[in-house]
Amino acid sequence: MTTAVSLPLVESPLQPEAAVLDVTVAAGDGYVGRIPAGGSFRIVDLHGNQAVDTLFYDAENLANRYSAMDTIREQGRAYLTTGSRLLSVDLDLLVTITADTCGRHDTLGGACAQESNVVRYGMHTRHQHACRETFLRYGARVGIGARELGHNINFFMNVPLSPDGSLTFADGLSAPGKYIEVRAARDVLVLISNCPQLNNPCNGWDPTPVRLLGWWSR
Ligand SMILES: [Zn+2]
Repeated sequence: MTTAVSLPLVESPLQPEAAVLDVTVAAGDGYVGRIPAGGSFRIVDLHGNQAVDTLFYDAENLANRYSAMDTIREQGRAYLTTGSRLLSVDLDLLVTITADTCGRHDTLGGACAQESNVVRYGMHTRHQHACRETFLRYGARVGIGARELGHNINFFMNVPLSPDGSLTFADGLSAPGKYIEVRAARDVLVLISNCPQLNNPCNGWDPTPVRLLGWWSR
């Protein structure tokens, strides 16, 4: 069975030169920041096939966080792309995906953790850095702890659902320069782990940096 997809690619008119936020997140590093209501936020997969584990929160109420289950049920499809409305556990709209030049993003596969690495790949991976640790390290800066970590989005990660219902971590559909862009429906916090995983193809076996761009009035 092939994983052929029709990709509804949508580009953004926003120009990097006009961005008020422009940071590069090194391979395996993280980021936390605020996107004001109405602001646009872009993640650029600089080298291709890099999973970017991402969580969104209502900036005024961290318990009102992104809900993968509610988002999937309300949009009636498993993957995220342009037009996807990312909902919170209280069914509030956090952000809408407004541009996507990759075409498919996962929100079923979860984030890697040192514990799951050991189960999947063996005890020798116990020391390897993982997304859950990055979420906790950067989340601590804004009051996000283990209780606030819910199910995440894996931008640029390809986790096809097979006809029999099984999930696989497949080679990515992304490529250098592909990006995803969202518009905030309210003030949100974005928490990112630029995935350090070395044991499956989610990062093309070689984690690489990503660029974050933001457009809003200061
Ligand atoms: Zn990871």
